[in-house]
Amino acid sequence: MKTLLGLEKFGDFPKSRVLKAIDLYSKGAVSRERMAGESIYFTVKSNETHEVIYRIKMNEFLCDCRHFALKGSHCSHIIAVRLMMENKSNSEPA
Ligand SMILES: [Zn+2]
Repeated sequence: MKTLLGLEKFGDFPKSRVLKAIDLYSKGAVSRERMAGESIYFTVKSNETHEVIYRIKMNEFLCDCRHFALKGSHCSHIIAVRLMMENKSNSEPA
């Protein structure tokens, strides 16, 4: 399996959540849908499909899942999107 870049940035998150995010990213569940204004929209296909929004200026991530709504901390969907951003930035222009 290809080495993922940027994993050290997720050391503060529970390992199970990071592993789930790696799994989602590895199986291609994350897709970048569109850019609108100052935001980039992603979808993450887990058991349900979730929408993750990255607000560029604020450097802020939002997700529509229950975990994010309740805890406000980065869920596996957001971590999966961040993994994609980490791992694409070196090989492709943004
Ligand atoms: Zn989420």
